[in-house]
Amino acid sequence: MPTQLPSYESIALGLGLSAGIGLLGYWRGALTRSGVLGAMLTGTAIFGFGGFVPGLLLVAFFVSSTLLSRFKGRVKEKFSEKFQKGSRRDLGQALANGGWAALLAIGMGAAHWFAWDTRAQILWFAAFLGALATVTADTWATELGVLSDALPRLITTGRVVPAGTSGGITRLGVFSALCGGAFIGLMAALGILAQALALQNLGWNGGWNFISDASATYAFTLLMLGAGSGLLGSLFDSLLGATAQGIYFCEYDETQTEQKIHSCGQPTRLVRGWSWLDNDAVNFSAAVLGSLFAALAAFFIL
Ligand SMILES: [Zn+2]
Repeated sequence: MPTQLPSYESIALGLGLSAGIGLLGYWRGALTRSGVLGAMLTGTAIFGFGGFVPGLLLVAFFVSSTLLSRFKGRVKEKFSEKFQKGSRRDLGQALANGGWAALLAIGMGAAHWFAWDTRAQILWFAAFLGALATVTADTWATELGVLSDALPRLITTGRVVPAGTSGGITRLGVFSALCGGAFIGLMAALGILAQALALQNLGWNGGWNFISDASATYAFTLLMLGAGSGLLGSLFDSLLGATAQGIYFCEYDETQTEQKIHSCGQPTRLVRGWSWLDNDAVNFSAAVLGSLFAALAAFFIL
């Protein structure tokens, strides 16, 4: 196992692991072919440059999202026409969800490579945590919120809107976002604990030496950091969805949708927002905001 990051071994290991997980995702119907490429790009960068704990968080995001999208799949089918894309994730979605985290992981690698002080490395890690907490929170909120009995309300005006509408939130969805973010924080704490045990018993430090504090206080801080940044990031996602995101109308069956070409085959027309700001761009922007919040919070508390 590599003890310094980034190294040829860690990058090769990252490529091997992410190719394996990507192909498994393809076989299980969670990824398209271009989605496998996306999983390999983000997985190699995150594991190769970020190391064991960031790699673990990426796997936690991917596995939990895939399982939740399968959960009550029949009930969800009727909403699928509203969403821009189907349940298989493509390259755009993989980069929207993991791209910012991958860039931050490369930053973590650089912080280690150039031997920046421990504090700078912790802030990079916090930013990474915030990015993955946000995309996880947002996916959990989408997958579970759509099952709510209550109709969603627009985050901006509070007006009741049909289920599946961009920018609509429910209590269940917001609670799910909080849980998704907390889940990533918890996994980070468990990963750091596992890393501390590996260092003690096997002499392997997961490629890093700066995150060695496996105390309960530190674990709790990571949990709160994940929950807070995940919730905030996913609310920002809804805010963009309700305002700036490009939303279209299909004249043929009179429905609002995120699709430029509706799933019925008809072209749609833009009714609000910017056409370039599609669902992928919104997810990416939310990840950036979540990471900034987490880094800022870590700056004051850690
Ligand atoms: Zn249509």
